[in-house]
Amino acid sequence: MTISTFEDKPAVDRQKMNLLGLSPEKLEKFFKDMGEKPFRATQVLKWIHQIGVDDFDQMTNLAKDLREKMKSIAEIKAPEVVSYHESKDGTCKWIIRVTGGDCVEAVFIPEKDRGTLCISSQVGCALDCSFCATGKQGFSRDLDAFEIIGQLWIAVKAFNSFGDKANRVVSNVVMMGMGEPLLNFDNVVDSMGLMLNDNAYGLSKRRVTLSTSGVVPMIDKLAEVSDVSLAISLHAPNDELRDQLVPINKKYPISLLLASAQRYLDKMPDVRRKITIEYTLMDHINDRDEHARELAILLSKLPCKINLIPFNPFDQSDYRRVTKTALYRFRDILKNAGHTVTVRTTRGEDISAACGQLAGTVSDKTRRSERHTNKHQLQPIKFVMS
Ligand code: SF4
Repeated sequence: MTISTFEDKPAVDRQKMNLLGLSPEKLEKFFKDMGEKPFRATQVLKWIHQIGVDDFDQMTNLAKDLREKMKSIAEIKAPEVVSYHESKDGTCKWIIRVTGGDCVEAVFIPEKDRGTLCISSQVGCALDCSFCATGKQGFSRDLDAFEIIGQLWIAVKAFNSFGDKANRVVSNVVMMGMGEPLLNFDNVVDSMGLMLNDNAYGLSKRRVTLSTSGVVPMIDKLAEVSDVSLAISLHAPNDELRDQLVPINKKYPISLLLASAQRYLDKMPDVRRKITIEYTLMDHINDRDEHARELAILLSKLPCKINLIPFNPFDQSDYRRVTKTALYRFRDILKNAGHTVTVRTTRGEDISAACGQLAGTVSDKTRRSERHTNKHQLQPIKFVMS
């Protein structure tokens, strides 16, 4: 099998409009500009996102001359899959090369009642959370919409190509991979629009979750245009500690963050909806009983569920995983205070796919990564895309 690289493609191809990341509205405009009826957009959306077609010749309900015209000005081009890895627990990870040569990662976590795809929104991340492998890589750039939705397109197409072997279906998408999604707002919103659109992936808004470290003004902006599920990466019960773990807290402290989360919920028509609070537990950092008690009080007025995540160590990390005893004590204090609490099971650790371990390959423009040595080296086990 030949794995082509971006550099192999002739320059003329790169100037074509890539239809993969176009929102339904932009695709309609594309056809309108061609003098075509808007319903062509619906047809093409279905071909691309529901059937996984990237060849205009396969779009048999379009006239041949229209297909030829489209071929001359447009393309459907997903980012390149560099390698595919499967964990012994069934977790799947794709390393995906994006335009310019950097790589991002997407991870699929199969569970009994769902299959969740965790996708990246940026190449690296500028926010430098102290417990995050992506943060250590520095930041290169925002992903284009086709590079974001392309991760879902690649996963769905791969599972279809496996046949029914493992019965893997992407039922949920979380924007929790590399990057801060709210700092790549337009491309993330366009991509989530495709995830929700019935002519594309048709996922319910409850099954698409955007996770943010707390870019407060953009949470308000998101509420204006979308009602997907919102997760807040909190990780600390007070500003003093959160300033150290999640540096953006110095700009948008916890009180502002939780107020914006409440405003987000207030805009939702469904009063039963809740914010997910993510709290990564690190040994002797944020896992003490007093932290749990402080957190319980802090969140007492916000409709939320708390997801406790045992820290997943990576090569350059300064932290250790919470002990089981501390984890369950922490959980029980929150539960006894009346909170809904789940503990995230660590998945895909053997392929560095666990939460907080995604690193990719980043041409770091922040030069932050020069302080670290990247020792993440994976051996691919098989390719799934041709
Ligand atoms: S935790 Fe999220 S926001 Fe923080 S550095 Fe990692 S990717 Fe960026």
